[in-house]
Amino acid sequence: MTADTTYTPPEQVVAIVTGAGRGIGAAIAERLGADGLAVACVDIDEATAAETATRLEGQGVRSAAYAADVSDEDAVQAVVDRVAAELGPPTVLVNNAGVLRDNLLFKMSAGDWDTVMQVHLRGTFLMTRATQRHMTEARWGRVVNLSSTSALGNRGQANYAAAKAGLQGFTKTVAHELGKFGVTCNAVAPGFIVTEMTRATAERVGQGFEEFSAARVAGIPVNRAGQPEDVAEAVAYFCSPAAGFVSGQVLYVAGGPRT
Ligand code: NAP
Repeated sequence: MTADTTYTPPEQVVAIVTGAGRGIGAAIAERLGADGLAVACVDIDEATAAETATRLEGQGVRSAAYAADVSDEDAVQAVVDRVAAELGPPTVLVNNAGVLRDNLLFKMSAGDWDTVMQVHLRGTFLMTRATQRHMTEARWGRVVNLSSTSALGNRGQANYAAAKAGLQGFTKTVAHELGKFGVTCNAVAPGFIVTEMTRATAERVGQGFEEFSAARVAGIPVNRAGQPEDVAEAVAYFCSPAAGFVSGQVLYVAGGPRT
């Protein structure tokens, strides 16, 4: 692979991964750690963030855990400041923290609409705004946002689909604004991935996970469920120095064109 010769990353790249306590975020944190990045594991749940950070340290990765709600403006600024002071200026940001509040439109409460917008859209905006300064100062940076195949429309997910589609517009805009500073911004849009989030969905619709999973896999061209590591692989590519000419893109990681 050819490296970007216009902009070069700092010797020790520091990454922030939100929602790193479990699932896809934990897999991304491990994958970036394996690539030699120092990783700040941010989660609303300090205990799970600490579990991930401790696991990474056991693998020889510089890592630390931070508790923050990504939708809280003051908490976001404080956590980015702490990461910069303790691990070094963050030049990679993976906006992964997410929640579901699924319901059919006619039953969806305004509160459930707002919660999903707050975490996915406001959270990604706040984290990116707080972190970009370190990237523009370094003249190098990578932002990766977690979208979803639900951005294309999904029954029972008017709030989540709107937020995940909104993130794609945000991604392309950040790519336009920060490109001249050597900062790329891309989105990864997973399909069906086995995590606590999809287990909770199965439970909500009253199905056992095996049955729920089999029904989803039946519509996936590669004939299997996705794993957090599948998503982490795509995120790691966008974060790599070699991906410097790829920006504003949405990569569907779904075992097919759309599932
Ligand atoms: P998950 O297992 O539910 O993990 C999400 C993590 O984010 C949890 O540790 C959660 O903490 C944390 N979190 C939630 N709200 C937060 C907040 N306000 N601030 C900080 N952290 C917060 O979900 P996942 O399946 O790994 O999903 C990760 C991302 O991929 C999400 O953006 C999701 O929308 C996206 N995605 C997932 C799938 C899939 O099939 N799993 C498909 C497409 C896209 P708590 O548990 O303590 O609340």
